[in-house]
Amino acid sequence: MIKDTTSKIYKKLAAQEKEEGSLPLLLKFYKSLTGIQAKTQKNIGLIEATISNPVIIQRLKQGIPLVRFEEFAIDGTLAKTTFIKVIALFSEYPQLFGEIPERLKATMAGRFLTKKAQKAWFTGKPLPPTLAEGISNNLIQAILQATMQPFLNKHALALIDQVEEDAWRRNYCPICGGSPDLSYLEKEVGARGLICSRCDAEWIYQRLQCPYCRNAEQSSLHFLEDEKGGFYRLYLCDKCHTYLKTIDLRKTEDEVLFPLERIYTLDLDNQAREKGYHPHSIS
Ligand SMILES: [Zn+2]
Ligand SMILES: [Zn+2]
Repeated sequence: MIKDTTSKIYKKLAAQEKEEGSLPLLLKFYKSLTGIQAKTQKNIGLIEATISNPVIIQRLKQGIPLVRFEEFAIDGTLAKTTFIKVIALFSEYPQLFGEIPERLKATMAGRFLTKKAQKAWFTGKPLPPTLAEGISNNLIQAILQATMQPFLNKHALALIDQVEEDAWRRNYCPICGGSPDLSYLEKEVGARGLICSRCDAEWIYQRLQCPYCRNAEQSSLHFLEDEKGGFYRLYLCDKCHTYLKTIDLRKTEDEVLFPLERIYTLDLDNQAREKGYHPHSIS
């Protein structure tokens, strides 16, 4: 896993902005977001292992992710401050996200991010009305994801080395249980790794199987390559009609920053949708 990806992305976009004078709107937003996230991540203390080695091995064997909500170390005050900053940033871009209710834009809005609300988000349960009312579910989920990412990612960085390559070949994240939303073909043998949509952890998964419905019938699985040398691939499954964007690391010498690739590849999402495929839902 690439360490400290968030601040690398921030620096890269800041350099691009300086060079080109300005950034496209979405990248400008993302630069500011990674600025907030990098700052929060810096302020999170060391993540102490709350589970012992034998428990880790047992959980991996049983398919239980390593961080359960009870073990998710999160500084409530830092989370609330981050939440307020993230909302302020999203509200600067109504053309991208629509309007955010006044209630959530208030300086006291941090109080809505209760433990109960955090748990509901973490476990994919319905959010309390103080968060959910008057805002689309997609938007509030995106705001919460952006707020929690630094905390989840910090856990992923602390724990991912404990996950041996062969110990976890499942279609959900070994760290937080999230669903993958991006994948890559690694340099050495072209094995396929999945990337968690929530904490950005990476793990290896069968290349010839759909990670969403586990379909392994080759006649109903295929992929498309981009025209510029196949750096990007779109894996398509005709059983569950989902797609998965994939980056072929064998085709580049440059360092690839996966979270940034989510934005660079939005054209691929459009292509997949036009062909009748949909992304797998995050939860
Ligand atoms: Zn995860
Ligand atoms: Zn499928």
